[in-house]
Amino acid sequence: MRKVGFIGLGLMGQPMACNLLRAGYELTVYDRNDHKVAAVVKEGAAGAKSPQEVAEAAEVIITMLPNSPHVKEVVFGANGLYPVLRPGQYFVDMSSISPIAAKEIAEKLEETGVHALDAPVSGGVEKAKAGTLAVMVGGSAAAFEAVKPVLSAMAGSIVLVGPAGAGQTCKLVNQMIVGVNIAIIAEALTLGKKAGVDPENIFQAIRGGLAGSQCLEDKAPRMFSGNFDPGFRINLHAKDLGNVLETSRELHVAVPLTAQVMEMMQALLNDGHGACDHGGLALFYEKLNSLSLNREA
Ligand code: NAD
Repeated sequence: MRKVGFIGLGLMGQPMACNLLRAGYELTVYDRNDHKVAAVVKEGAAGAKSPQEVAEAAEVIITMLPNSPHVKEVVFGANGLYPVLRPGQYFVDMSSISPIAAKEIAEKLEETGVHALDAPVSGGVEKAKAGTLAVMVGGSAAAFEAVKPVLSAMAGSIVLVGPAGAGQTCKLVNQMIVGVNIAIIAEALTLGKKAGVDPENIFQAIRGGLAGSQCLEDKAPRMFSGNFDPGFRINLHAKDLGNVLETSRELHVAVPLTAQVMEMMQALLNDGHGACDHGGLALFYEKLNSLSLNREA
């Protein structure tokens, strides 16, 4: 399969699409913003005027959109893919959306003979650029094996987690672990600072022990510098935790820690911090405790 379509050329989608071009795939791209299409056309892709045009040109159609409503619109909305899909095509949604929506979409597409996979990613913009994303996939083993070479152009690791929706469930689990981790890092460093100990010294002392983690390594230095340029934005993480809470309500699973972090993110959104990196959870604790973790402040 050499003909790939890509819809959604944002912070993540653009570098992912460019990696497909570099790997030699014949790429057709669409985004609702024309200038984002133009940027990838400049790199060698064909530009499409609608999701339908992408579906007509491609054997594998990839989407990288913000959330469930955007994916549903691209598939089932006006000029959406659905009416022109052909049996045997592959639809791979790499956005982070609700597993409930992912299952619904996969079921409808499978009825038409299209193979659907949910394949959200972890790793952020840097790994998207480097082509080393971690991809967690839900769907059939046969479809997984068929599109694995395409995904390899964008990924460092690709794991089939289970049936349709399992990739999105895995992504929600990832976002719960990361969100609660960042919050407790900010909470604990706030206590340290209030007790008169330099948070950066605490970081240096504990990073090699059991409290050390990739979250600590990436987020604590942002807190000391007060630099919350994204990275991964609070508004996207809040969207993911919203999907966690929707799923947990449906399944009657108690998720008290995640719900707390969601409340912190709501407060940060109200304070205008939605576009900050999620390390900006520190801003919630700084306001609550009238202090700054920033060394310069
Ligand atoms: P983004 O907002 O930068 O990009 C989304 C793109 O989708 C935009 O270019 C937008 O114009 C386009 N779009 C939206 N609705 C559309 C429609 N109906 N038709 C066509 N195009 C449409 O977001 P992003 O950071 O690239 O994230 C995309 C997905 O990847 C999200 O689900 C996000 O949670 C996930 N993700 C992001 C990161 C990250 O670090 N940014 C990391 C892992 C996963």
